[in-house]
Amino acid sequence: MIAPILRSLAELRAKTNEWHRNGETIGVVPTMGALHEGHLSLAQAAKEGCDRVIVTIFVNPKQFNNPEDLTNYPRTEHEDAQKLSRYGVDVIYVPDPQDIYPDGFSTTVSVAGLTDMMEGPFRPGHFEGVATVVAKLFLQTQADRAYFGEKDYQQLLVVRRMARDLNIPIEVIGCPTVREPSGLAMSSRNLLLSPEGLKIAALMNEIMRQLAKDLAAGKDFVTLAQDAKAALLNAGFTEVEYIDLRCAETLESLPRASKPARLFVTAWADGVRLIDNIPVNPA
Ligand code: AMP
Repeated sequence: MIAPILRSLAELRAKTNEWHRNGETIGVVPTMGALHEGHLSLAQAAKEGCDRVIVTIFVNPKQFNNPEDLTNYPRTEHEDAQKLSRYGVDVIYVPDPQDIYPDGFSTTVSVAGLTDMMEGPFRPGHFEGVATVVAKLFLQTQADRAYFGEKDYQQLLVVRRMARDLNIPIEVIGCPTVREPSGLAMSSRNLLLSPEGLKIAALMNEIMRQLAKDLAAGKDFVTLAQDAKAALLNAGFTEVEYIDLRCAETLESLPRASKPARLFVTAWADGVRLIDNIPVNPA
C-alpha cells in the first residue's frame, strides 16, 4: 500500500499525537528523496524497531553550499512513494517549505568540534543546514528513534551530538552503508554519473579496502594515503578532496589505526562529488 503523503505540519501532528496517545513508538527516516536501497534499508530498520514509521523527503536548500548541486539534485517523489510501499511505512512527510522555513526564520543550529574537519571546511554552511533541518524534523515528528546511514558518518555523529546537546528525546541509530555489487556506496548522486563515470567511481571502494587492510595491519597512514591518492587519480578521479583516518567515536585524526577507526575519502569523478567511509579495526 502506498503511504499517505502529508504536506503540512498540522496533518503530521494529528497523526503523531494519535500514535503517541495509543502508546505507539515512532521512527523517523529523514531523506532528500531520490530513494535507493540505502534509504530503503533505513526504512526497514525503522519498521523493525518501531510501531510507526515516518519517512521525510525534503531537499533542504540550507545544506547545499553549491547552488548548481541544489538545482541538479534528482527529484522523484512519485517513484519514491512507490518504493516505500514495500516497507510498511506509515506516512511520507514532504513538508511545505513554509513549515520548515517560515518567513522571518532566523535560527541556526551549529555543532562545534565534530564539524571542524572533512565535510565541514569543504562544504561551508552544510552542517548548520543539516543540524537545523534535522532538529526541526525531530521536533516536528516527535519521533522516538531516528535512523541515519553510516554512509554519511560525520553527519551521523553531528546529528547524534545535536540531539543530545539540545535534550531532544530521540535515539539516533546508525545503519550500515548499502553498496552496489561493485562496492560503490549507493547515493542519489550516482544517478548523475555516465557509464564511464560509474566504472571510475566503483574503484574508490576497492582502493579504500586495500588501504584499510594495510592500516589494520598497523602500517602508518601518511605514506599509504599518498599512494591511495595517486591510485585514485590514476583510476580517473579528477580531484581528491581528502583521505583521512579518524577515531570512529571522536573523529580525532589518527596516525595509525591504534583503536577502532574509520577511513574517509572524498573525491570527484565525472563532475560528481563522491564520499565514502569504511571501518578500520586494528588487528
Ligand atoms: P540523503 O537523502 O542523501 O540525505 O540521505 C538520507 C539518509 O540516507 C542519510 O541518513 C544517509 O546517510 C542515508 N544513506 C544514503 N546513502 C546510503 C547508503 N548507501 N547506505 C545507507 N544509508 C544511506
